[in-house]
Parts: sequence; structure tokens; C-alpha cells
Amino acid sequence: MATEKNNPSADKKSSKPTGIPSMTERFGAREKDGIVRCDACPVLCRIRPERSGACGRYANVKGELARVDPLVLLENSLDSDSEVVPFVDSSSEWDGNLIQQGTFVTAIGAGTTYPDYKPAPFIVATQYDKVETVTVVSEGIFSYCGVKIKLDTDKHLGAEQADVLCDGQRIGHVTTTEYGSPMLSLGGVNHLTGGSKREGKVTCNAIMALCNRQPVELVVAGGCSMVVQAGHAPIIDGVPEKHMRVGCGSATIGIFAEQWHGHVDEVIVIDEHITGVLSEHQAGRCLGMKPSGIRIRGRRSTPGRYFNVANPGQGWGGTDINDPFSIIESIDDNVACSGSRVLMTTTTGEESIYCVLDEKLQPVKAAMPDAVQIVVDRIRENCEPSLCSVLFVGGAGGSLRAGVTENPISLTQSVKETLTRVTMGGAPVYVWPGGGITIMVDVTRMPENSFGYVPTPAIVAPIEFTLSRDRYTAMGGHVDFIQSLEEIRDYYGDSAQSNSWNPKNPWPLK
Ligand code: SF4
Repeated sequence: MATEKNNPSADKKSSKPTGIPSMTERFGAREKDGIVRCDACPVLCRIRPERSGACGRYANVKGELARVDPLVLLENSLDSDSEVVPFVDSSSEWDGNLIQQGTFVTAIGAGTTYPDYKPAPFIVATQYDKVETVTVVSEGIFSYCGVKIKLDTDKHLGAEQADVLCDGQRIGHVTTTEYGSPMLSLGGVNHLTGGSKREGKVTCNAIMALCNRQPVELVVAGGCSMVVQAGHAPIIDGVPEKHMRVGCGSATIGIFAEQWHGHVDEVIVIDEHITGVLSEHQAGRCLGMKPSGIRIRGRRSTPGRYFNVANPGQGWGGTDINDPFSIIESIDDNVACSGSRVLMTTTTGEESIYCVLDEKLQPVKAAMPDAVQIVVDRIRENCEPSLCSVLFVGGAGGSLRAGVTENPISLTQSVKETLTRVTMGGAPVYVWPGGGITIMVDVTRMPENSFGYVPTPAIVAPIEFTLSRDRYTAMGGHVDFIQSLEEIRDYYGDSAQSNSWNPKNPWPLK
């Protein structure tokens, strides 16, 4: 529930020192019996006193509409490339405090204007490096949005295109696996709006939770169950993943071949996708290794590189095998030698076995020599920690642009020409080529809990457009609604939340 602290409208309506209208005037209207109507989304909630609207983002505090969450400002005291600000004049001493080099008004807590032709909630003028800049901030309502999730694991999650379920509802699917990382595509307008009401609601809740870095339980149809949380290791079938693979089986052979040379006669790196066989591989040939006579199952792609050695599964290297010897199809007694030393491992080094061929040319497990163990350990050392990466993808190419300019195509063109910078909660975004403004952002670079929802259903996400004031004027921006940073600070007072800028992000005004 909102408090007076984060409701500047409630305590300042009669003494508001700036030209900023109250929240009720900007985002709604007063009705009889102390009810306020919220116009910030198509639901148009009528909110009774001391209650909140359907999304929980707006409330009625003392008969005034209030945004429940505070406006988030990013404070940058570290930007050494911006204009040098003297700590003190020559007649006084430095008090030990760093001078703030800049403040960036994010859209988090700024609110949304609806319908879209109204100017965005805040159009903020600031100066950076002697350039007058304008930042247009709004909590965009995204009906066309979803998340792409990368899971660093060599485990098989399920078949490509398999449904991904949350609370029994289809909310997305398994998409193409990237290097060492299965990927999920969740959400999107078809799951948000094209299925049952419950499917849309569950999809919306899951996207919001994932973007707010909360753990979400997912099930792949015909595959595994998992817990996904941005910035944490995935938990697959109840087991937290530790490491992603160093590469495919062939790459692992290529990387470590020289370090194995002389210590083993054969290395087989088992991998669901590309299993490598050292003596046959180009790396082994370059080192002058002799064929071992061990022939493995699967389809030979090129020398020493095999596909489909086993079915996908939760066993060695993302296959369904737990007995590594089961992928040996034959051992050629015209080529193989008794006493040959064979290492079988996976691309993470988490599973490995060392064996020696006996007189009947059968592999017999043996103690792994230190020199071989060092290289297996090095595979593991080269595997990065397993993480879930959650990227929000949304299309801001539609009506949201009208809050920035009367001529929305000029904003799209300006973004494409990189004259306008797009950020989300101050974090950099990737803008897709082609039409519209389709953006993608790593949610861990944004302030926590940046995302909300409205029950239409759609995701609410902060978005900021920053450009020079001259260009903003030239593109037909809502220049009459520009406010200074000081006006916004005065209006919000202590109710705004100042966060330190994440120095891993570029400073949005730069
Ligand atoms: S759902 Fe939220 S944003 Fe939409 S009208 Fe209701 S309170 Fe306002």
C-alpha cells in the first residue's frame, strides 16, 4: 500500500512548488465518495480510499492517486569523463564527500500516461558535458514482450520446440541450443493474449517474476523440471548446476590435445552434440598420434568428430548414458594394443574415467595418473559458473512512441541512427535492426524489481529515451512538457529513491 512518503501528490497538492501537476491530474481523476480513477492503463480502475488498483501499482492515498513504488533516480559520482566539477572553491577545504557528477531519472515509478497521445509522465531536461539533453521517461505497457533465457548447462532439458509449462500452463517453448547453453523463449503476445485467460495471467506473472530476478519453477513437456532465476545457477530436476561446458567434445579435444599428448593413447570426450576422439581428430594427427582402434557409436561427421553417439538425457555430457563404455562400438584387434591408455571424459570434466586395454583389448578401469588428472581438472577450471541469463525482449515500436513525439517515426529513425539512446531503468539495451523499436535488455543490469504488470495482461517496464534537446525539438517532441531535474527533485523530495549508478553500465547521458 502506498504511503504518504512515496505519494508526493497527497501531501503537496496545495503547496506544490513546481509546475508538475498532481498524480491524480496526470494519471486519473477524482470521483465522488473519495474515489479516484486511475487512467494509467486501459483497465481504468476506480480506487476507493486507502485501497490500491488491480495491478497494485497505484493507490488512493487521502483521496489522491499515488504511485506505490518510488521514482528511482540513479546518482553517478564516478564518471571521470564528464565535465570536471571542482570539489571546492580555493577558499574552503574538501569535506570528504564525492561531488555528484550527474543524476539520471529512470522510468521506474514514473507512471504511465494513457491513452498514448498524452506526453510521457516526465520529460526531463538535464545538462551533460555542456550539452542540453532531454530524457523522456515512461513505464511502458508491453503487450508484445517476453523473455529469452540462456541456461548454462550441458544437461538435456527437453526437445527443441517442446512446450515450457508454468503452473500447468503453456508459457513458451524450448528454442535452439547455443554454445553450451540450452535456450528458452517464454511469453510473447500469443501466450499473453492468444490463449485462455489463465494462460495469459500465468505467462504475465512468470515473465514479471523472472524479470524481477525471482525464482520460477518451469517444466519442459517430456523433459525436465527446473528452477530458473536470473543471475543464479539453474536447478535441474532438483540438482543445482555447477559449471557450463568448456566447449563441445571436439573443441575440448582441440584445446587440451597437447596437454594429454604422451600421457594417454586415446581420449574420448562424450558430448550430446559433438563427441571428440583424439587420435582420429585433426589435433591428434597434428601431434603424430597413432590410431587407437577404438570405434565409437554415432554418425561420423569429420575425422574425430561424431554426432548422435547416444540419445539426449541426464547422463554423461547431456546424453542418456551412465556407462561411458556403452558408446564403444568396436575395438579393432588389428590396430588396438593391449596396455593402451584411454581417457573418457565430458566437456565439463565432472565425469571422467581412465582405463587400460587388457590382453583381450577390453577397457579396464584404472587409477588415473596425476598427469592426466591435472588436465581433467583443467577442463573443469576452464568451465565458467553455470548461470541463468534472462533477457527481456519487448516492442516499443507502437503507441509508446506517441508519448515522446507527435511524429513517432522520427523517434524510430533517431533510435536507429543512434541519435537517441534507449535505456531501461538506466541499463543499456540492444535495439534490433529492422522496423519498430524492439529492444532486449539483461534484467540483472537493471535495478531490482523494475517490472510490474497490468491485468490486461501486459508487462510494465521502465523505458527512457535520451537525446539532445535540439534534436528533441526538431523531431516534434512535447517540448512544452519539459521539466528540469530540479523541478522533479522538488516535487518528489525525499520520496524519490536515489540509487547508486551501476558502473558496469554506460552512463545513460553520455
Ligand atoms: S490496473 Fe493499475 S495502472 Fe491500470 S488502471 Fe488499475 S491501478 Fe491503474
